[in-house]
Amino acid sequence: MRIVSGMRPTGKLHLGHYLGVIKNWLELQSSEECFFFVADWHALTNRYTDTKDLKDNIKDLVRDWVACGIDPTKSTIFLQSSVKEHAELSLLFGMITPKSWLELNPSYKDLKFNLYFQYVRDFLLGKGIKVDEELLKSTIHEAFYYKKEVDFESIKSKLLDTGLKEESVSDMIQNLTEGEIGKKIDTFGFFGYPVLMASDILVYKAETVPVGEDQLPHVEITREIARKFNRLYNEIFPLPKALLTETSKILGIDGRKMSKSYNNAIYLFDTPEELSKKVLSMKTDPQRVKKSDPGRPEVCNVYTYHTVFSSKETVSSIYEGCKNAQIGCIECKRTMLENLERFLEPVREKRKSISDDDIHRILKSGKDRAQQIAKQTLEEVRNCMNLWQD
Ligand code: SF4
Repeated sequence: MRIVSGMRPTGKLHLGHYLGVIKNWLELQSSEECFFFVADWHALTNRYTDTKDLKDNIKDLVRDWVACGIDPTKSTIFLQSSVKEHAELSLLFGMITPKSWLELNPSYKDLKFNLYFQYVRDFLLGKGIKVDEELLKSTIHEAFYYKKEVDFESIKSKLLDTGLKEESVSDMIQNLTEGEIGKKIDTFGFFGYPVLMASDILVYKAETVPVGEDQLPHVEITREIARKFNRLYNEIFPLPKALLTETSKILGIDGRKMSKSYNNAIYLFDTPEELSKKVLSMKTDPQRVKKSDPGRPEVCNVYTYHTVFSSKETVSSIYEGCKNAQIGCIECKRTMLENLERFLEPVREKRKSISDDDIHRILKSGKDRAQQIAKQTLEEVRNCMNLWQD
């Protein structure tokens, strides 16, 4: 089975990335034909104004993958932009993709929603205004979903209802409508990224795409594009299937979703000192104040980490010790830290041994392999579309 999957080079990998994506890739590479690509063009869709770290991020991502065990002798690892056939196929698919498919794509809406939400949240936090994230999310959600245009007036009035000052809210709405955020995502590249994604998959005639539930609409658009192409010209594309992957159940150190923008992530390559500082500051069961209070491991994020990184025996003794108030939270965190460190230490060491030359070599050989297939597909596409070929 041929599998295609990519990741955007947007910075350091954290445990959420490892458990949500890499772990799954590691399993797939031992039995399937895998193509893993660094999606540098996708990174530009909403980060085109800030490209100074792009090359370093590409190298870091490949280094991280290999350090985690993605094996270039088993999997084809390459850079999206080095196989130009992705772009040509995307352009041709753009000709047959109705605008409405992209407008209705919930992922497009989700991405746009997240950008607006993050912008509003960061703007308010920057002004020292305390933010109720759930309320803010639902406010923006209402003003945004199921509407052709974002209803900025409704965002404004809802925020004023929460007691925020007119001055702060007006400033923010003005920035939102006229400032960087509005311009940033109102581009052809951002709007059309599902078409590029369809090309990333179909250029290799992949049969399977490992995705989280939130990315299912991308696979659906890819299938629609393949179906339409096959109907119009010739049956050359398979209809790829989504392989649903488990999302990572661990949260950031503050108990929210692990994310760079929340500053709550444990990175795969944090130093032992950074790791220790983060683990010891993790939020636990809020009702457990003293060691003598019986705890609720089922609501504690530290316990969830134990279920991933500790042995079965440790997990059950932590569970009992917490419920019966026999173990303190610091001791519990120290045990988890030891187990997490045991998992991360070899990955960290391996990462140090991967040079820039190694990365260039890996990407070059991956490109050669990927391009061989992509070229054949494009030749077929041009043929059946009756395009001129030299
Ligand atoms: S003992 Fe461990 S599992 Fe129980 S609340 Fe404290 S940190 Fe969480």
